Amino acid sequence: MTSLDDLPLRDDLRGQEPYGAPHLHLPVQLNVNENTHPIPEDVARDIIEAIARELLQVNRYPDREFTALRDSLAGYLGHGLTRDNLWAANGSNEVLQQILMAFGGPGRTVLGFPPTYSMHSIIAHGTGTEWIAGERDADYLISPETAVDWVTRTKPDLVFFCAPNNPTGTALGLDTIAAAYDATDGMVIVDEAYAEFMPDGEPSALTLLEGRPRLIVSRTMSKAFAFAGARLGYLAADPAVTDAIRLVRLPYHLSALTQAAAVAALAHAPEMLAMVDDIKAQRDRIVDELTELGYSPWPSAANFVLFGGVDDPAALWQALLDRGIIIRNLSIPGHLRVSAGTAAETTAFLDAMRELTVH
Ligand code: PMP
Repeated sequence: MTSLDDLPLRDDLRGQEPYGAPHLHLPVQLNVNENTHPIPEDVARDIIEAIARELLQVNRYPDREFTALRDSLAGYLGHGLTRDNLWAANGSNEVLQQILMAFGGPGRTVLGFPPTYSMHSIIAHGTGTEWIAGERDADYLISPETAVDWVTRTKPDLVFFCAPNNPTGTALGLDTIAAAYDATDGMVIVDEAYAEFMPDGEPSALTLLEGRPRLIVSRTMSKAFAFAGARLGYLAADPAVTDAIRLVRLPYHLSALTQAAAVAALAHAPEMLAMVDDIKAQRDRIVDELTELGYSPWPSAANFVLFGGVDDPAALWQALLDRGIIIRNLSIPGHLRVSAGTAAETTAFLDAMRELTVH
């Protein structure tokens, strides 16, 4: 059998691991921070009609500039943003890849703060950008001083923040982002995939965009919007940033069907986001009940909870799997991560945890 070693693979990809969340179909799937609520049926019907209209013209290439979609996204985000500030791609993973293709690449570096979203370093490797692993303060926090210290010492071409951070759920102060921005001439990216789950009134990095042309805020419809399968991520930034990304994007990268589906979904934003409060309530319930069981959940501003105090994470992960429940083992010693599901899924998880916890 041919192995990777037999192929003339890029040397810098040898020995690398692909993104590896196990993709298993089980009754309770709380492993990849999806929104586990299906989208409302009336919205689904509108989306199907929009897709059907596009299908009749699918012999033609789609709008390369996805103008209607950028208008819809700008309308959703507010903050005085217009279509010129918006860019979108097939999931925010692709948005991040395009950012690294434009501003990173061989000979360039990107600073991130593990433990953080594993794709940040994987996309860095894939684009030939060197990944610099910064260190967080206690409790997974990043103070402005810590961020400035790492930026000043390592002089990266890009800085990646994840706010709220996956997998820890930790919120990030805007003062840290602003301080890092002032300390670098490079690009500063804030991955806000979970922004809609932040505490009410907590400001987004979108409020920092004005006057900061090297700042990029990336978002996704995969989480709060319950649209992971449709693949739609986007960014907000200075119009010059979107012009930079036009240099590396593939023409027509967003299919006409994706564009139509996303525009139709955004027209129903309040309905699509209706489950966010419920998901936040389930998240808080997980924190409370795991604490009662003697575990140490970290405070979360996202739709998942990282919890410590697990003697044998691999064994607990497997025992849950045997009960039809999949959560995530990220190889953080003594820890596992669980996504907040529907009330019923969350109950199934917590009941199993109660059963599996030896007092
Ligand atoms: N950023 C973060 C922090 C994530 O956790 C994820 C998904 N797990 C993504 C980006 C990518 O999401 P998508 O490509 O579906 O937009």
